[in-house]
Amino acid sequence: MSVRTVLPILLCTWLAALPQAQPPVPADPPGPSPTLELAPPPGAVVLFSGDDLGAWTRMDGAPATWPVAEGAMTSTGGDIRSKDTFQDAYVHLEWLEPDMPDAQGQARGNSGVALQGRYEVQVLDSYGIDAPGKGDCGAIYGQYSALVNACRPPLEWQTYDIIFRAPRFDAEGKLAEHARLTVLQNGVVIQNNVQVTGLNYPPTDIDPGTPGPLLLQDHGNPVQYRNVWFVPLPEKGSEEYQGRRGE
Ligand code: MG
Repeated sequence: MSVRTVLPILLCTWLAALPQAQPPVPADPPGPSPTLELAPPPGAVVLFSGDDLGAWTRMDGAPATWPVAEGAMTSTGGDIRSKDTFQDAYVHLEWLEPDMPDAQGQARGNSGVALQGRYEVQVLDSYGIDAPGKGDCGAIYGQYSALVNACRPPLEWQTYDIIFRAPRFDAEGKLAEHARLTVLQNGVVIQNNVQVTGLNYPPTDIDPGTPGPLLLQDHGNPVQYRNVWFVPLPEKGSEEYQGRRGE
């Protein structure tokens, strides 16, 4: 075999052994959520612990009809809202995206969590998207994109831990401070104390000064939810400097 014959063969073999160029793949967020199956703390209002929808109604006030199986409820049968309402609150919930490989964008595992029924934190299968936008998972819908993509793959349980600060009003009832939201998805901060400047979930003509429910959206895709509870938070702490115990 001549050098002319051998050299191209060696070159091809060498090229085939080189690592192939790959499109950039966003790094996975750190493993499963550290708050998966977190037990409700003392004082929590449990909205769903796995077996019944007694704490929920449809939007017209009729009993909620989402199917419940194997400790989870599935977002089928219209939006539902909690009977219990809140102002400031810490909200924990877990959800699981369906596997919809042929669906795109807003049709891919869409649901949503609306604080006081007014401010939607988007639920969507945005796994692997490099730079999530204002309609992707973790967005305050239409207003703030998630800071980073903290999504886990479909069919894997995920968590939202949400700290909600209701809007404040002055003595005349005029809006003084917008609602604020801090959101951790799977233990990762994705919204950092953002001011929500307007209601982003219909109907938007309700009085934002009143307590409101937790609302879960049926957007036509079967998203599962479990372990849903909230802890009401006081509007503020003590005005006094109390000193150390025993002084
Ligand atoms: Mg939605």
